Amino acid sequence: MAPSELIHLSAADLAARLAAGDVTSVEVTQAHLDQISAVDDTIGSFLHVDGAKALAQAATVDEDRAAGKALGPLAGVPIGLKDVFVTRGTPTTAGSKILEGWTPPYESTVSARALAAGLVVLGKTNMDEFAMGSTNENSAYKPVRNPWNHDRIPGGSSGGSASAVASFETPLSLGTDTGGSVRQPAAMCGLVGMKPTYGSNSRYGVIAFSSSLDTPGPFGRTVMDTALLHEAISGYDPCDSTSIDAPVPGVVAAARKGANGDLTGVRVGVVRELGGDGYETGVMSAFEAGVQTLRDLGATVTEVSCPHFSYSLPAYYLIAPSEASSNLARFDSVRYGLRVGDDGEASLEEVMSMTREAGFGAEVKRRIILGAYALSSGYYDAYYGQAQKVRTLLARDFTAAFEQVDVLVSPTTPTVAYPIGAKVNDPLAMYQGDLCTLPASLVGVPAMSLPVGLAEDPADSGGTPLPVGLQIMAPTMADDRCYRVGAALEGALDASRGAPFLAELAIR
Ligand code: GLN
Repeated sequence: MAPSELIHLSAADLAARLAAGDVTSVEVTQAHLDQISAVDDTIGSFLHVDGAKALAQAATVDEDRAAGKALGPLAGVPIGLKDVFVTRGTPTTAGSKILEGWTPPYESTVSARALAAGLVVLGKTNMDEFAMGSTNENSAYKPVRNPWNHDRIPGGSSGGSASAVASFETPLSLGTDTGGSVRQPAAMCGLVGMKPTYGSNSRYGVIAFSSSLDTPGPFGRTVMDTALLHEAISGYDPCDSTSIDAPVPGVVAAARKGANGDLTGVRVGVVRELGGDGYETGVMSAFEAGVQTLRDLGATVTEVSCPHFSYSLPAYYLIAPSEASSNLARFDSVRYGLRVGDDGEASLEEVMSMTREAGFGAEVKRRIILGAYALSSGYYDAYYGQAQKVRTLLARDFTAAFEQVDVLVSPTTPTVAYPIGAKVNDPLAMYQGDLCTLPASLVGVPAMSLPVGLAEDPADSGGTPLPVGLQIMAPTMADDRCYRVGAALEGALDASRGAPFLAELAIR
């Protein structure tokens, strides 16, 4: 099979061909490395590619297969890892200059599980510095371009993980979702992206942003691909104190069940507060068409009110910066990466201060200042304490909603991908883009984004239409519901357009 055909296959198809001996992992890996060479100067998905290491790993999988060893379902399939996952012997920067040149001595649990499953790591993907952002413009190294329109953001903070899958540089990738950073770039690049239940994917070896929210999650071009990766990396980890000691929901089986296209008996709630004013009309019409498809598949659709969802944005932008200000204290010029001004004259405090001044970007500094202020004595109760109480109100909204329905749906983002630079000087405008993804993050429930259609680009009428994502939220540890409903919807949409969603991009 020609390399140009290989890179367009789904991970599930690649896995089947690898298992049947039609193709080797070395061939598959080389095809993706070639695509990276061809497009990544333009797209900017990767911060670090290690072709030799990937090919050696692929050769080992091929040898194991030839020797008849038992292999996982994704063995030999390539993957990209967001540069927030600590990888032994491979540079890890979290998109920040402060970690430039740092090579970790250990491996994150999630990437270790990917390696143990035989996934072939192509490299580390670009991201907003310390996962702070919704556009990938906060990367200290380079921006990422949306494969659908190179002048548009890919979304963030896992922008490189999304653009890599959408530009066929890899069939699968991993990101982290703290307030939407898997779902939002998935929506803007036309992919499936999943934020699993908080605590069901280990944070061990994930460079911390906001510890009560950070959740590793998979990207794929199909619901089934995403489910296969989800199952490969999830599950209890004693190295993470908030890890849930319970069986991983059967997401692959749920995706398979959903693919039969019957949602009879499934109750879907449309969140009243996530839509309407402030949402682009193209986004709303693609979303509503998606909801109609759910009805056509047999689901019962009702409107559900979640009255406290509007407080998610201020609560998140107090909690996440507060936790970040504490987590980022470890970048002290002594333990990792950059050190500035250590000339024997300057004091330790001066070296720390010069290093943090030079090593952190503007958004990171903004959040450290905001967080340190919100946590300071005299203000703690008024800001951080109040924001934590909002989480309880949100949890009650979800509990009440899930007494009426099995899943909740909304648009994933209020807008399609906007022009690079459009909101760079207006952080509050950028934060508004997280409206729909924050409630599930603050409560820890699972949520998926999947592509439901294309909308006209309001910044370029008549130009390339851009992807719209539909979000599916489910109760804690009921991640399988997202996959069942997602697979059914994907199947119906693929059938109506006569091709998988990303084929629309492939033919451009
Ligand atoms: N966009 C949000 C922020 O800037 C979410 C980031 C994330 O999920 N890592 O904090």
